[in-house]
Amino acid sequence: MSTHDCIFCKIVNGEIPCVEIYSDDNVLAFLDIGPVNRGHTLIIPKQHYANIFDIPAEIAPAIISTQQTVGKAILATTGATGLNIFMNNHPDAGQLVFHAHWHLIPRFSDDGLKHWPQA
Ligand code: AMP
Repeated sequence: MSTHDCIFCKIVNGEIPCVEIYSDDNVLAFLDIGPVNRGHTLIIPKQHYANIFDIPAEIAPAIISTQQTVGKAILATTGATGLNIFMNNHPDAGQLVFHAHWHLIPRFSDDGLKHWPQA
């Protein structure tokens, strides 16, 4: 898929809207349009990489730093008492959008969601 057709590149470029949580030169965080829990957030590199295997290692510190910063903010603002951070790579792992992204999913003691990897 070219970056021209990528929905997350369109969000980065401002061609389609998002609810932005955090942005810097390299990384963008925004609310997931189909949240599995209140405050479900996605973190993406602004540059297009299809999945974890395409991302240059130099990008990793910016991603992890954003996970920490945004993760703490999500916990503080939602009152969540836990946070799942994960990513899907390739269709058989459930990847639907082929621009690398991490899911930050706030967890609450009574949210009814299962703990991965229980099906
Ligand atoms: P994945 O299955 O890991 O590829 O997840 C893709 C995620 O992107 C899903 O949770 C979708 O709800 C989310 N998503 C798709 N389009 C948008 C959008 N325009 N804005 C925000 N989140 C989106």
